[in-house]
Amino acid sequence: MSEGELVCVSCNKRIAKEMLITPEHRCPFCGYRIFKKSRPPIVRKVVSK
Ligand SMILES: [Zn+2]
Repeated sequence: MSEGELVCVSCNKRIAKEMLITPEHRCPFCGYRIFKKSRPPIVRKVVSK
């Protein structure tokens, strides 16, 4: 499981933190600077009786 993966809100590509080596943290694909954290969705099983 990769931790700390970011998703660019502009091009919606996943970017590893290792790729953000610049202090400005720009997207290497489109140059956008706003990211959201990508977390794996936690699926909870609800048992209905
Ligand atoms: Zn981007």
